Amino acid sequence: MNPDTHTQVDALVVGAGAAGLFYGARAGEMGLRVLVVDHAAKPAEKVRISGGGRCNFTSIHTAPHNFISANPHFAKSALARYTPQDFTDQLARHAITWHEKTLGQLFCDGRSGAIIDMLLGDLQKAGGELRLNTAVQDIAKTEAGFRVTTSGGVIEAARLVIASGGLSIPKMGATGFAYDVARRFGHTVIDPRPALVPFVFEGRDKEDFASISGLACPVRARNDRAAFEEAMLFTHRGLSGPAILQISSYWTEGESVTLDLMAGLDAAAALAAFKAQHPKKSLASAMETLLPARLVALLTARGDIPEVPRLADMSHGAIDALMQRLSHWTIKPSGTEGWRTAEVTVGGVDTDGLSSKTMESRLVPGLYFIGECVDVTGWLGGYNFQWAWASAYAAARA
Ligand SMILES: Cc1cc2nc3c(=O)[nH]c(=O)nc-3n(C[C@H](O)[C@H](O)[C@H](O)COP(=O)(O)OP(=O)(O)OC[C@H]3O[C@@H](n4cnc5c(N)ncnc54)[C@H](O)[C@@H]3O)c2cc1C
Repeated sequence: MNPDTHTQVDALVVGAGAAGLFYGARAGEMGLRVLVVDHAAKPAEKVRISGGGRCNFTSIHTAPHNFISANPHFAKSALARYTPQDFTDQLARHAITWHEKTLGQLFCDGRSGAIIDMLLGDLQKAGGELRLNTAVQDIAKTEAGFRVTTSGGVIEAARLVIASGGLSIPKMGATGFAYDVARRFGHTVIDPRPALVPFVFEGRDKEDFASISGLACPVRARNDRAAFEEAMLFTHRGLSGPAILQISSYWTEGESVTLDLMAGLDAAAALAAFKAQHPKKSLASAMETLLPARLVALLTARGDIPEVPRLADMSHGAIDALMQRLSHWTIKPSGTEGWRTAEVTVGGVDTDGLSSKTMESRLVPGLYFIGECVDVTGWLGGYNFQWAWASAYAAARA
């Protein structure tokens, strides 16, 4: 690309991910000349790897309470104006078929590449241009908008739309570009933290959890801010699985998390019934009817389940105390796996400085922030893409 090139557009979008490409197509359809630039060699790489390669593109249960933000009201307007149904209508126009998994999560029937093709096709059809391998070197505010110097030449744009995402998965091209631009123009950035990320442990916990790595069980993971009842997975570094990823978004360094290992079970009644039927059997054999045997063995070795050779010797009080302990099993992670494996970023460009209707900066007219770089973070289950589509749509309609 010739670095002396001079381009003039109505909207320059930085970041050819979910939000940037969606914005490009919608703004193009509204009649704007749009250019999308990305420093990576390929567009929308996170869409490609998302949902295990089938892109969990939305959740039919999308509601404002599924999003974490310093201002929990901020996302309401954009989410109301672009709904999961709007996105599935869009997929229908492209003959992309999908199915619902648990908890209202919608996935493509085929590969997530179909969504990338749709985003790129829509951008092209709307007259938009995409330039990859293009790094932004400088941004200057002008009277007419912005003068952006890139490795591929200078671009003059009336609107500058920052859609460069958060910090998760740096090896896929994630950068703090959006935060740098925001700070430079006087915006506040809420401290970005890795979220939807596995927990790691040290010492005995690490060894114990590694010893049953690969084992999954249903739990209710909670702290004083949130609770999620889903599967948990033991890993060679600690704990993962949907319940852990979800609660990680509400966790800060040094805090504990309470796990209800008996979630969804009427365990005290089940244990009492087992005792009545098999009074000579051990507590461990009774617990194995409720929890995976390897977990029962581990909990016994850790002293969380007492060694009781004959259930007949266990009082109701002792059963209640055991249930209490297993439904309040407290763990203290030493940290998370960090940006390397985090699915998203909690925090980002402070919504106080943005219009909730249009995503436009309140400080710099013509400057927009959309998608994951904004301090709006969805739960696991398609909510983050729904935010990318909805925030992009709001900005394109501006
Ligand atoms: C493994 C994984 C699985 C996921 N699965 C799901 C899922 O199934 N459902 C769901 O809802 N969410 C999922 N997510 C989250 C979802 O991918 C993101 O929330 C979403 O992609 C955010 O869209 P975005 O457009 O804001 O940012 P991104 O999609 O991250 O796009 C940002 C773009 O900006 C570019 N960029 C960055 N810095 C610069 C720079 N300095 N200059 C130029 N370009 C730059 C990047 O190369 C990238 O192309 C997953 C995330 C990961 C990591």
